[in-house]
Amino acid sequence: MAITVSKGAPRIAHPSAKAPTAVSPTAKMTFSFGRTRTEGDGRQKQLLGGKGANLAEMSSIGLPVPPGFTITTEVCKAYYDSGRKLPAGLMHDVRENIALLERETKKEFGSNRNPLLVSVRSGASVSMPGMMDTILNLGLTDAAIAGLIAQTGSGGERFAWDAYRRLINMFGDVVMGVDHHHFEEAFDRIKKKHKVDLDTEVPTEGMRDLCEAYKKVYQKHVGRPFPQDPYVQLERAIEAVFKSWNADKAIAYRRIAEITGLPGTAVNVQTMVFGNMGDDSGTGVAFTRNPSTGENLFYGEFLINAQGEDVVAGIRTPKPVSEMPKWNKQVHRQLLGIKDTLESHYREMQDIEFTIERGTLYMLQTRTGKRTGVAAVRIAVDMVKEGLIDEKTALNRVPPNDLTQLLLPSFSEKDKKHATVLAKGLPASPGAATGKLAFTAEEAVMRAQAGEKVILVRKETSPEDVDGMHHAVGILTSTGGMTSHAAVVARGWGKCCIAGAGALHIDAKAKKVSVNGKTYSTKDVFSIDGSTGEVMLGEVPRSEPTLSGDFATLMKWTDKYRKLGVRTNADTPVDAKRAREFGAEGIGLTRTEHMFFEGERIKAMREMILAEDEAARRKALAKLLPYQRKDFIGIFTAMKGFPVTVRLIDPPLHEFVPHEMKSQKEIAEELGVPLKTVQQRVAQLHEMNPMLGHRGCRLCVTYPEILEMQVRAIVEAAIASRKKKIDARPEIMIPLAGTRAELAMLRTLTEQVIEQVKKDRKWTGELNIPIGTMIEVPRAALVADEIAEVADFFSFGTNDLTQMTFGFSRDDINSFLPDYLSKGILEKDPFQSLDQKGVGMLVEMSCRKGRATSPKLKLGICGEHGGDPASIRFFAKVGLDYVSCSPFRVPIARLVAAQAAIAGEGGARGTIGE
Ligand code: PEP
Ligand code: MG
Repeated sequence: MAITVSKGAPRIAHPSAKAPTAVSPTAKMTFSFGRTRTEGDGRQKQLLGGKGANLAEMSSIGLPVPPGFTITTEVCKAYYDSGRKLPAGLMHDVRENIALLERETKKEFGSNRNPLLVSVRSGASVSMPGMMDTILNLGLTDAAIAGLIAQTGSGGERFAWDAYRRLINMFGDVVMGVDHHHFEEAFDRIKKKHKVDLDTEVPTEGMRDLCEAYKKVYQKHVGRPFPQDPYVQLERAIEAVFKSWNADKAIAYRRIAEITGLPGTAVNVQTMVFGNMGDDSGTGVAFTRNPSTGENLFYGEFLINAQGEDVVAGIRTPKPVSEMPKWNKQVHRQLLGIKDTLESHYREMQDIEFTIERGTLYMLQTRTGKRTGVAAVRIAVDMVKEGLIDEKTALNRVPPNDLTQLLLPSFSEKDKKHATVLAKGLPASPGAATGKLAFTAEEAVMRAQAGEKVILVRKETSPEDVDGMHHAVGILTSTGGMTSHAAVVARGWGKCCIAGAGALHIDAKAKKVSVNGKTYSTKDVFSIDGSTGEVMLGEVPRSEPTLSGDFATLMKWTDKYRKLGVRTNADTPVDAKRAREFGAEGIGLTRTEHMFFEGERIKAMREMILAEDEAARRKALAKLLPYQRKDFIGIFTAMKGFPVTVRLIDPPLHEFVPHEMKSQKEIAEELGVPLKTVQQRVAQLHEMNPMLGHRGCRLCVTYPEILEMQVRAIVEAAIASRKKKIDARPEIMIPLAGTRAELAMLRTLTEQVIEQVKKDRKWTGELNIPIGTMIEVPRAALVADEIAEVADFFSFGTNDLTQMTFGFSRDDINSFLPDYLSKGILEKDPFQSLDQKGVGMLVEMSCRKGRATSPKLKLGICGEHGGDPASIRFFAKVGLDYVSCSPFRVPIARLVAAQAAIAGEGGARGTIGE
């Protein structure tokens, strides 16, 4: 690739001393691409934005790209840093680049003979579909229009006026902020005058009149005439693109997609090519593979005689590319060739935009195609099979959280047989969503925030709708194709979406949709199947996902590379079985207290809590023992061959007693004690700060008989299982320890009970039950070396550890968290993603200190962070043996663990499943 460096004049820093620019005096502000000179390449996304970097790359591999240049993202940053001023020297460079384009295209900017027209488009390093501004046909003026008419020849006059009116409208609207409806009104008047309904029916003279009318609208609302100097147009358009970086919709999109830390957008100025020059012209969007399913088939849509925005805006429903040979065989063949060139060059699925101007194909964009989780997995696995990438690259290609889409329930064929299918649209983004209908984005946000599940039903969506789309469980549109705004955004988020369901007639004002003669409103429920495009009436039952096919293959590869073990948090055999199917290698946390709530158990539990003395307590506990034993047998059986960490009782006892009079009366009656006794005990159990109160191991210090019952149940269940040849492997976990002494005491008691049960059951076989603790009190982390003397394992309870390190109540954080996030005090909710600096330091320190005492100490994590990708990477880095997370997060944790290992951050000891 020929890379030449611009010899532009040396840059002078912005003259204002108060407003320094971030672009250093020598930084290069523009990069050209084209036949004459291509300065950037595909790796420079940070600097040139995704679009700019890829235009340069495509130019350099010889694809037909209209020439142009890119203004860097750093210039955008400089613009904002200097209080919204374009850096000095920028327009000088722009002029040099335009001169280069003039030479290459043999056209002249603003000429009345052969005018050069350009598009001005945004392009950040991360794609933000439709969120920022674009100006097309720039360079047209009253003088240049004559040149464009002359250039386009017969029949070109209407086209030229059409191009001019589009520019005045776009420039007025996007650059100068004139509301679009003023232009619409002027257009309606012209249509009326010419007695036509459609834009396309307006004759040439109508288009000419329209340009005059638009210029008047512009003058009226801007206070100045429409600029006739193309460089003035260009400078303002560049500035408008920079401004659009901080438009509300762009900010909202970045917030939702968690895009942070970017300098700004680049600006691409590129020679215009026209897809609307007649029936031999057209425009389209395509993916090198199906972005919804991942199938290896060129997949796209095109419109004849149209401009690019018409496809994305979803106003006209385009034709599939497979129908292109009927229109232009040669262009279709050329596109298929470009698919192969791009895929073998990028070794990645590409999303392209192209235009055909009078039979000649031009590439306007290529970028890594957004895809659903399903497609991401299939494409990654297929590309390994095709020899395009290796397994490690494939594993890195799948964003871990996107796997959730493969783990969502779907509508089963069986259930769908009984459903009423109202319409069929395009399967734009897979998933199965059921909800009531919402007809505007604002309504969707409001109703979703009030707790309703809504499906956003729109004719088409626009970037203004992103918040509503985000809040809806699914999106349904009546127009637009697979590449319409709704489809692209929904796929990016993994949200269920059907596009172009043409049978729906939507009246958003009346909040109604009619289909096949029947009308539905906000109270009606639809079920939409984003994998098939079926729109069904009412709620259709959903079935559980399974791990099979390409998903299973990818998961097998994770096991080849990862060093971190993955267990699950499960309290029932059903959850244990599901997690095992997803690849869990044991249970990292069974919360036993959940087992005390069902039916008769809660009665015995309450009897135990209300007991006056130890004897009465033991009597009640004896009733609980068989229940617990049975539960443990179930879980050990479901997890046979793998470790099961059973945690002893954790919550404060007040959680098990009722606080309303009615239930208190019922208990008093049931247990045959006076109501007053119940009330006194409830009052006694009241604590000011229950999460810091009489809970965790503190309960067993006061009531050792609870520990005795639970340990007995665990050991009896293990022996009973072993006798049935079920390889039960319990581990006993004592929660909330903060001192060596309390753990030592409870450990001794636990060991005594284990020995006693073995004796009682005459068990002489092997039964090694490790005894460990949770590290969830900061003090435990500080003295981890001492605690490790009496623990076989540590499991980090990062929920409590976060709560106690920050001093944030985990149950009440929502009263202030939104302020902390919006004011930038916290980057993320620390209960969702580990605070690596603070809480993480305690984790890291405990590992170090614990292993210094006991090199064989096993280390795991069972707080919610065990399922969060960023936290899992951290746990891999500090060398934990395993993470434990909810069953549905298990595949995600396996993938992150593999990605961490591939990046060289894998667990320190490689003890999967031990
Ligand atoms: C923890 O504190 O992280 C934990 C797993 O225990 P729980 O959530 O039950 O308090
Ligand atoms: Mg805890």
